[in-house]
Amino acid sequence: MIVKVRKLREISIIILLLVIIIIIKQHLHLLLSQFESKSNLKTIGRMIYDAVVIGAGLSGIYALDQILTNKPNAKILVLEATNQIGGRLRTIDGNDFGATWCWPQNDEIVMKLIREFDIQCTSPSATQILVDPFQEEQVRLRGGTHQLVANLANKWKNKFELLLNHPVYRISRIQNMENEIQSKSKDNIVTIYADEEKNQQYLAKHVVIAIPPKICAKKIEFYPNLPNNVSQALNNTDTWMEKASKVFYEFSRPFWREYNANFSMQLSGWFLFDASFDLDGRYILCAFNTGHGDSSTSEKVDLNKIFGPFVHKFLIKSSRHDWSKNKWVNADYCPNNEVVTKSNMCRIGIHPILRNAVASSIHFASTETEYENGHMEGALRSGFRVANEICKMLNCERKTN
Ligand SMILES: Cc1cc2nc3c(=O)[nH]c(=O)nc-3n(C[C@H](O)[C@H](O)[C@H](O)COP(=O)(O)OP(=O)(O)OC[C@H]3O[C@@H](n4cnc5c(N)ncnc54)[C@H](O)[C@@H]3O)c2cc1C
Repeated sequence: MIVKVRKLREISIIILLLVIIIIIKQHLHLLLSQFESKSNLKTIGRMIYDAVVIGAGLSGIYALDQILTNKPNAKILVLEATNQIGGRLRTIDGNDFGATWCWPQNDEIVMKLIREFDIQCTSPSATQILVDPFQEEQVRLRGGTHQLVANLANKWKNKFELLLNHPVYRISRIQNMENEIQSKSKDNIVTIYADEEKNQQYLAKHVVIAIPPKICAKKIEFYPNLPNNVSQALNNTDTWMEKASKVFYEFSRPFWREYNANFSMQLSGWFLFDASFDLDGRYILCAFNTGHGDSSTSEKVDLNKIFGPFVHKFLIKSSRHDWSKNKWVNADYCPNNEVVTKSNMCRIGIHPILRNAVASSIHFASTETEYENGHMEGALRSGFRVANEICKMLNCERKTN
């Protein structure tokens, strides 16, 4: 009898524990929001930014430029995950490891910036001479595409705050004590959490998510959750060139032009082309692998095989960048060599839903949200669009178009 009673008591304790676990699970969001209320005590008295821009790539920095152009006293903070600005615009030694070409007839905003910053353009062909971009189908920027973003950031140097090495990991619209204190203003205040170790928190009226949609889906949690269709759109939009690689080989002379004045060739997944800057006396071959599809793609280009062993006599240096290893571009990057099952094929996203703000305060930029998906022009147009939306709500008058 006593044993039976004991057993019964044990069973009821187990059931009670199970019920408690279920209740805790169901109310986790509520508990978290209460925790947030407490932890947000540390944000009291802090600045409420007009906009926090997540990502210091071209789209984020152009959004910043456009907001400040129309509202020079706007308070803006840019949070960037890496230790540099530019994102997929990466120029080292004049060589473009990210974006290289622009198409003057279509790239309206790129051309506007080229004029504004007085950047010289060269033809993309072997001779690499200076050209009038408006007479060309396709051009390169002398000095590299990173200048676009560097000049924009420099233009507003003392007018905004930039925090590098600040990856954003959470965005919360849950009302907390700080928001209540600020409730005099009817703005919907958002809390942005960056740098998980240091748990930094920032408050803003608007958030510009200027990072690739899939990176957003994988790296940032939202409270409350984003609407399902928005999460799906973020998850289903692949990142342009997320698996691309580029290798630059600099030589003492352009020996390849002896074979063919306009040298370029395709080679097991790689496109090899003349990326020299004749004007600067630099002779360069670039091997570009877009990382799409073909599983037979080789890891590297064998210049020996193409030109013969003498090639090394002229080689000064080579440098390589694999975008697939950048976890802020390639959402599938697994540093521990886990198996990546996703196909490499690049799907074109352009979900219209990503061009609508969530709760009038969360705005999605990045090249992947625009029709010019993948191009610098797409990144710029997305920055322009979100700046426009925000400016309307901040009641600033648009001065540019
Ligand atoms: C190899 C290659 C070749 C290309 N060639 C061309 C070309 O010839 N012509 C052309 O027009 N375009 C080209 N592109 C595309 C062009 O570079 C992009 O369209 C453009 O740079 C994208 O800008 P973005 O601001 O949308 O995104 P990004 O440049 O990716 O910027 C996003 C920024 O957000 C940061 N970030 C990510 N996650 C977080 C987080 N959680 N918190 C904070 N920061 C975060 C990233 O570090 C990055 O700095 C090329 C791209 C590559 C990679």
